Amino acid sequence: MQKNILQIALDVPLDRLFDYLDGGVDVQIGQRVVVPFGTRKVVGVVVGISETSEFAIEKLKSIVQVFDGEPPIDADTFVLLRFCADYYQYPFGQALLASLPTRLRQIEPAVSRKQFLYKLTPEGLQASIDEIPSRQVVQRKIFLALQQGSLTEATLKDISASWRPAIESFRDKGWIQAEQVLAGFKSSNQAVPPPVLNEEQTFAVNQVIESTNTFKPFLLHGITGSGKTEVYMQILQQILTDPDSQALVLVPEINLTPQLEARFRNRLPHFPLVSLHSNLSESERLQNWRLAQSGQARIIIGTRLAVFTPIPNLKVVLVDEEHDGSYKQQDSMRYHARDVAMVRAQRNQVPIVMGSATPALESWQNAQTGKYTLLSLNSRAVAQSALPNIRCLDTTKLESENGLTPVLVNAMRERLDRGEQSLLFINRRGYSPVLLCSACHWIAPCMRCSSRLVVHLKQGRLRCHHCGHEQKMVRQCPSCGNADLHPTGHGTQRLEETLKQLFPSARIQRVDRDSTSRKEALNDILNAVHANEIDILIGTQMLAKGHDFPNLTLVGVIDTDSALFSPDFRAAERLFAQLMQVSGRAGRAEKVGEVLIQTAFPSHHLFNALRSQDYPAYAQTLLQEREMAQFPPFCYLALLRAESSNYRDVEAFLNFAFELARSLSQQVLTYDPMRAQMEKLKGMERGQILMQATQRGALQKLLASLTPQLRASKLAAKVRWSVDVDPMEF
Ligand code: ADP
Ligand code: ZN
Ligand code: ZN
Repeated sequence: MQKNILQIALDVPLDRLFDYLDGGVDVQIGQRVVVPFGTRKVVGVVVGISETSEFAIEKLKSIVQVFDGEPPIDADTFVLLRFCADYYQYPFGQALLASLPTRLRQIEPAVSRKQFLYKLTPEGLQASIDEIPSRQVVQRKIFLALQQGSLTEATLKDISASWRPAIESFRDKGWIQAEQVLAGFKSSNQAVPPPVLNEEQTFAVNQVIESTNTFKPFLLHGITGSGKTEVYMQILQQILTDPDSQALVLVPEINLTPQLEARFRNRLPHFPLVSLHSNLSESERLQNWRLAQSGQARIIIGTRLAVFTPIPNLKVVLVDEEHDGSYKQQDSMRYHARDVAMVRAQRNQVPIVMGSATPALESWQNAQTGKYTLLSLNSRAVAQSALPNIRCLDTTKLESENGLTPVLVNAMRERLDRGEQSLLFINRRGYSPVLLCSACHWIAPCMRCSSRLVVHLKQGRLRCHHCGHEQKMVRQCPSCGNADLHPTGHGTQRLEETLKQLFPSARIQRVDRDSTSRKEALNDILNAVHANEIDILIGTQMLAKGHDFPNLTLVGVIDTDSALFSPDFRAAERLFAQLMQVSGRAGRAEKVGEVLIQTAFPSHHLFNALRSQDYPAYAQTLLQEREMAQFPPFCYLALLRAESSNYRDVEAFLNFAFELARSLSQQVLTYDPMRAQMEKLKGMERGQILMQATQRGALQKLLASLTPQLRASKLAAKVRWSVDVDPMEF
């Protein structure tokens, strides 16, 4: 009798498929099954069916169950994940299972709760807001909203997290009726009419539309407010007129999803839209994913993981804020969603549009060489919103107290007096200190790799985090003889305290990971800013994006100099992007904004480019620097990281890997093992090896034979290790 042998992907850290017998049940490729694995039962996905196995058939176990009521996962999705698993050196089974909604990783048939649309009954329409006690704030809000029209659960949730009791109380009164709908589908609204596009926008839209059904990458470059989102919406409008079409829209952060989603829904209400991000309940996530998979959802908008969603009729991919670091996954499979989107567009032969005010240098370089087609929007779409006034405050000439110059303090006081808002932007990313001469601006360089040395004060040493070179601290500037050398960068923790003393009556709000860890916290803060309940905001990059604050007229930037001279070669690029974005916050309405930047280096070319809002000029400079130093995009990098409670184990593993890598490839430059920048984290001693190549292929070839050998080595069992291809953090 013919045996069917199922090749099954499992969520286990081994890069192979597992053979099982079908147990006489009819099973298709792409279906979820439950199989015995060791002493457990686990969920797997059938990715192949064969008549033979390299194992003895009689030793194979049979699957326990197949979820045959569910639509199978398509071959396209497998191929994409297979590619990523290979490229990013990660087990395919784990990559595949991790890409599925949680419900599909559980040993249960995946069902999602039904979704309802709520509307007022004739009785409810007769009712008056005065019948709801004034302390029932949520009830009142929801009632007012219902008077405007029917609401989905998602919208209700946006109004208040505790919407359910309110709805129940209305139902008890007979005010409300519910009808079942598909999740994510809005009751048909009148479409908001689109503006007439300007010439550059029209050109951009036409270029993309002409490339329908072919793979063509576009880089849409334009400052905030130049009308990129309008371009996206017109592209969608035109491409989606084909009834068998779907679009994937990637956004960098959950925080930005609701805004973009709302704009898309208003403009394109006829196209069912679903969102996919980690703020959804598991049930919603599953449902939205299924709607994408079935082709019913026409627009799929989501954060990085959404790039793996099955979308059978994909016709266009849009990547908003393509330079954003959050597209890079920092654990498990360390993929870059923009790069995966590119691969996906290529496989599907569809156009991909990447938009940004400050494109990643990798993308900009591709646009220069013609690999991407550059589409530029050079003016703000709405003429009357003028660009802000950008000025540097020289901290070497101005006295400053607790890190604030009097000019900045006065500017803030003026805003307070006028009832306007200020934003103080701090760059809190853990930039490591470099050794800087205050007299001649000499910075301790690495002799071996044109990187900058990092100060390790405790050990009194300087280290290169690129190649591992290490030396004693320099006491005197070799360039000018000055003995006043000190690490740059000082604390910003006390800023809030200082401001409270300076402006005791001002309403001050800090926005960072701590103050926004609660799910709704950031939204509450943003609402408070809009309601003018906050005078001074102190924020990191979280604030820099996407939000429109019409009453915010001053942006103060402090403590950025460490990024200008960071040993991380991407720090300057990131700083420029952040400052462009943050200066876009000032004065977006009729009031002209002012941006004041405190720096010891007012003539640095970064600030010159910023003042003229000239990204191309700055990108040009940075690219020249990168080319000279042979950093990406002029080379390709991979980082092997390892950690253990005992550094000896890390060393043994990395030494082994180092020797192996050297013997495997001459085309790839493998640097010596070294300590990680953060030497110790959560009790783990950390080390790493950097690999560098001028050809992507050479690096891939090395990794393809290195990783399996590392997996098989005994030394690997004593450490936690990972490979990061195209790393963004070092
Ligand atoms: P971006 O995405 O580049 O930040 P948006 O597309 O959000 O820019 O445009 C900024 C503002 O200008 C929005 O309010 C948008 O509706 C408006 N806008 C964009 N293009 C036009 C246009 N051609 N005519 C009128 N208003 C426009
Ligand atoms: Zn000097
Ligand atoms: Zn070095």
